Amino acid sequence: MLQGNWRGTDTRRKANISTMTVPLPTDSTRWRCALCGNLTRFDVTRSSKVVEYVHLDLAGDPKVEEREVVSETIESVRCRWCNAVDQVELVDRPGAGS
Ligand SMILES: [Zn+2]
Repeated sequence: MLQGNWRGTDTRRKANISTMTVPLPTDSTRWRCALCGNLTRFDVTRSSKVVEYVHLDLAGDPKVEEREVVSETIESVRCRWCNAVDQVELVDRPGAGS
């Protein structure tokens, strides 16, 4: 019910994303499951601390107009194919580095 009002939010990211155990992909690298070779499907468990600019209308309905990510941590990455947890490695993206 309330959820419908919390859409269309402009999210800003100031924070650096950190990870517990998982290497982060960059502009030229991507994740690859070290066990089965999956490149495309992962469940990412992420915890983030955000500051929301909540704008309430006169009726009292809240709407988040801005969301600033203060810090973000990827806690684990699970492969959707073989369910391996935190077994991702970084490989070059196609066409990268040329
Ligand atoms: Zn896998």
